[in-house]
Amino acid sequence: MRDLPGNGARCKWRARDSDRSGPEPRSRERQDAKDAKGRWIGVVPDDSANPRRLWRLGVHPVHGTNLSAAADWRAGPGTAMQRLMTRTMTVDCDYLGPGFAAAYLMHDGARAAFVDDNTAHAVPRLLAALEGEGLAPHAVEAIAVTHVHLDHAGGTGALALACPDAVVLCHPRAVRHLVDPSRLEASARAVYGDERFEHLYGRLLPVDASRVRAVGDDEVVPVAGRRLRFLHVRGHANHHVAILDEDAGEVFSGDSFGLAYPALQKRGLFVFPSTSPTDFDPAEARASVRRVAALRPRRVMLAHFGELTAVDEAARQLESFLDVSEALLDEAAASAEPDDALDAFCARRLEPRFLKTAHRWGFEPDDSAMAILRLDLDLNAAGIAHAARRRRAPTRP
Ligand SMILES: [Zn+2]
Repeated sequence: MRDLPGNGARCKWRARDSDRSGPEPRSRERQDAKDAKGRWIGVVPDDSANPRRLWRLGVHPVHGTNLSAAADWRAGPGTAMQRLMTRTMTVDCDYLGPGFAAAYLMHDGARAAFVDDNTAHAVPRLLAALEGEGLAPHAVEAIAVTHVHLDHAGGTGALALACPDAVVLCHPRAVRHLVDPSRLEASARAVYGDERFEHLYGRLLPVDASRVRAVGDDEVVPVAGRRLRFLHVRGHANHHVAILDEDAGEVFSGDSFGLAYPALQKRGLFVFPSTSPTDFDPAEARASVRRVAALRPRRVMLAHFGELTAVDEAARQLESFLDVSEALLDEAAASAEPDDALDAFCARRLEPRFLKTAHRWGFEPDDSAMAILRLDLDLNAAGIAHAARRRRAPTRP
């Protein structure tokens, strides 16, 4: 293997699969709580505060004991005691299995906030993490949603129901989907079918409009003892925000700074962009990567999955994959292929080019890695094809 820059850098993953016995059956976690109409809403299980159970549920502290270092990132206004109490937790949502989708819990010992909530199925895990920190649902003052793709915000309604004092913070374009998720639900059901949809996402509950607050680009909102700066970052989704914790120097990137599954990090950092439908825009995606990297964060907290510290190296990898994606988009849009053949056109071409680029970064996937990559390769090809059709007919929705 050549000595490429990617080989020396490595994500630091707190979640060690070998230390976990795996998730328990969901039927035991949900406790089958129902709302007034008898619909399942999901609540925290009785033994959620048991530390061993929290570990099994995939809840891990990102930091909490060495906050003096985090507080030095920028001279924040918080007191030493506030900094000492500040904690960020990674919650493995067990979406498609362990190590695929994370949400984050932050608190200062009294007030808490979540970043993303995965799906309704993950809500018991999020509440278990909260209870494990000795906090009640009333302590949650915000649920910050990076974007409304259902593996990030599918649980917002259920979590808001369980945390009655929480305000939902999101991009202005995300508001209507959180208040009325019926359109999101209909399109997801059309793609997945009812059974698969319910298996993946459970119920999509609306959030009362009075509890949803749109955040402006570069707006700073004090939440859970920190200053959170919201950045509008397009490219993956037009309703996407990345969130900088100005006091800890951490960016919660959603899907705007790529995907880096722990199972694919065995030989060094390997991160690639999500170009999934329907908003992929390579120029905007590149601008978003650069904007996040330019913040010089101590770490980036990926939704898929966990903590990434080699930020500049990750940005280089992401830009190289975006170059490949943009070239394929140009080629597809200019080709003589009919619109309905573009998905197959892109799928055929993306995989070899993706693997060639991965090789540049020292990543040689075996069969199990390819199995992990398959879903994203298919989604990424579909997103490039969709962008090509949009370019051909710009008025298409
Ligand atoms: Zn997404």
